[in-house]
Amino acid sequence: MSIRGNLFIVSAPSGAGKSSLISALLKDKPSDMQVSVSHTTRQPRPGEVNGQHYHFVSIEAFKALIAANAFFEWAEVFGNYYGTSRTVIEQTLAKGIDVFLDIDWQGGEQVKKLMPEAIGVFILPPSKAELARRLTGRGQDSQAVIDSRMAQAVSEMSHYTQYDFVIVNDDFDTALVDLQAIIRSQRLTCASQSHTHNGMLVDLLAN
Ligand code: 5GP
Repeated sequence: MSIRGNLFIVSAPSGAGKSSLISALLKDKPSDMQVSVSHTTRQPRPGEVNGQHYHFVSIEAFKALIAANAFFEWAEVFGNYYGTSRTVIEQTLAKGIDVFLDIDWQGGEQVKKLMPEAIGVFILPPSKAELARRLTGRGQDSQAVIDSRMAQAVSEMSHYTQYDFVIVNDDFDTALVDLQAIIRSQRLTCASQSHTHNGMLVDLLAN
């Protein structure tokens, strides 16, 4: 039996702290987990590095990748296209490495259909007031922009029931421990342990 990594789908409205939680999780570059780097047609934000935060591509290039069946899942989010590379996911899982997909609910739904054993984690903010505070940012955006972000957040949050686990990110350190607990418990399931300790189990069960 081959060793296979676990696939984690992590979704959240913007302002819930999803990216910070995933960064903290991978801060020490553990060899047994990695985050998938998506392709997107949106413009890079200041500080974003091509190949590290996203693979930034043109709409034409993205459509060619769709036609070539290169995406495990893809979706249009806030007017831009985003997609997860199929080969990278398959090859990484085959090496026994856990993969984290930082994707929206539409992508999460596609992944669950293709791979029902994928583990969905939804991150929620502790309240609407706190979400509004986090989305207001540095006070440079108009009320219309803030209202639109809030509406998008509410729409994304309405899909939380499609996920296996829910983390409320009130205190960041507690939310990080919660995420680590989900990963750890997943690695302790009978199916995972049977893969991980295959040789040991053969030995233990031999007469
Ligand atoms: P942002 O542009 O702020 O980085 O991401 C916007 C939204 O797109 C976030 O909810 C993020 O999780 C989602 N997203 C990023 N990459 C992918 C992807 O490959 N597939 C899907 N379906 N959503 C993605």
